Amino acid sequence: MAVAVTLDLLERWIRESAVRLDAAADELTALDSAIGDADHGTNMRRGFTAIVSKLDTAPPASLPEFFKTVGMTLVSKVGGASGSLYGTLFLDMGRACAEPTELTAAQWRDVLTAGVSGVVSRGHAEPGDKTMIDAFTPALDALGRALDGGESLVAAAAAAADAAERGSADTEPLIARKGRASYLGERSAGHVDPGSASTAILLRTFADVAAGTAA
Ligand code: ADP
Ligand code: MG
Repeated sequence: MAVAVTLDLLERWIRESAVRLDAAADELTALDSAIGDADHGTNMRRGFTAIVSKLDTAPPASLPEFFKTVGMTLVSKVGGASGSLYGTLFLDMGRACAEPTELTAAQWRDVLTAGVSGVVSRGHAEPGDKTMIDAFTPALDALGRALDGGESLVAAAAAAADAAERGSADTEPLIARKGRASYLGERSAGHVDPGSASTAILLRTFADVAAGTAA
């Protein structure tokens, strides 16, 4: 049976992401201490903790409302580049989401693509600039290829997560051209970009939750 992207799946995705980002916070902050200002892990933890309490106290009734809650909370609770960029991701996913209760795999791809386009419009990063876009772009490509090839949502989401992890690892030798790390110029090479690492966590969590391998 085809897995649909329901409100329940999305909530489980974000709640499990909060758990995993919390567990990875020190690691993300260590990456950011090498080429930034050592706050990416705490930024993500603060944002996702706030989202979880928001979901607990004011459960969204529809997909657009869900994405808006997530996006607005990130924008308001997370200072720095990642708050506004991840906030834009979710807000633009919500704007692109016409369905109230569930998305097909193809609609999920369209909604995620709209969110990533929003991040690009806001941050002007291109692939190779050593940002979260270096995880998102190959992930969207892999998702699209898998779905076009007739794969299920679960398989396509796993392919997207694999591609995001590879894309993140591949940021290591790059010289940053966007964000705080770009101030370091050549000294930014030799470290994985923290935002690409958090993107890979989000997309791996989505794949695992869709596959039913996470709570
Ligand atoms: P800040 O840089 O303000 O301290 P964070 O440390 O939370 O914010 O997030 C840094 C991450 O944000 C970077 O690792 C990078 O992936 C991402 N980022 C920064 N600037 C941009 C941009 N212009 N476009 C896309 N992503 C960006
Ligand atoms: Mg930082």
